[in-house]
Amino acid sequence: MARILIVEDEKKIARFLELELVHEGYEVLTAFDGRSGLETALEQDPDLLILDLMLPELSGIEVCRRLRHTSDVPIIMLTAKDDVSDKVMGLDMGADDYVTKPFAIEELLARIRVAMKKRRVRDEAPEKPAEVLSCGPVTLELDSWQAKVKGEPVALTKKEFDTLKYLMEHEGKAVTRDQLMNEVWGYDYIGDSNIVDVYIRYLRHKIDDTYRIKTIHTIRSVGYLFSYEEDEASE
Ligand code: CA
Repeated sequence: MARILIVEDEKKIARFLELELVHEGYEVLTAFDGRSGLETALEQDPDLLILDLMLPELSGIEVCRRLRHTSDVPIIMLTAKDDVSDKVMGLDMGADDYVTKPFAIEELLARIRVAMKKRRVRDEAPEKPAEVLSCGPVTLELDSWQAKVKGEPVALTKKEFDTLKYLMEHEGKAVTRDQLMNEVWGYDYIGDSNIVDVYIRYLRHKIDDTYRIKTIHTIRSVGYLFSYEEDEASE
């Protein structure tokens, strides 16, 4: 059963909401000021918060802001006045939605369902596997721009990383200087294509020379080729 925390200092409204939500099949927690609302949210880990904006002790905005340090629980703000800046601030502080008082209970229930569904879709989304490009002892973690050789992190500049990434994506195939220029520096790069050779030299130093392996091969009058053979390691 989904649990909803109502943080509302007007007890009549809190009680009304509680009855409606229990009737809808939710389990309900209540708090009547901002501070105890924040504490209850942190301790009880509800599935959704209905958070009044104007609260004693801590404002709804402040509760929202503090809660967002550690929690991504859906938050629907209740605003008494039709004040755009309050709503904007609430949304900026991480609220998911707001309802202006006085509201029709059906509207609030609909928004609760939407927020819960969004949350469910997100929770059920399969964890995206880290994108890793790997060839022999060389590994590129594409999300974190981390290069590793034999499990050890190697510090590469952005251009070095991009150059290596392109070579590894075309593992075993010759890549021309023009391809690398276009891919790494962009079509509108104005400059010497020798820059590619310079970066290849940096990469060879950081990877091949340092780790005594051979991965970046020169293909005469064409460009470069990335490959790794176990028996080349002793070269
Ligand atoms: Ca209030």
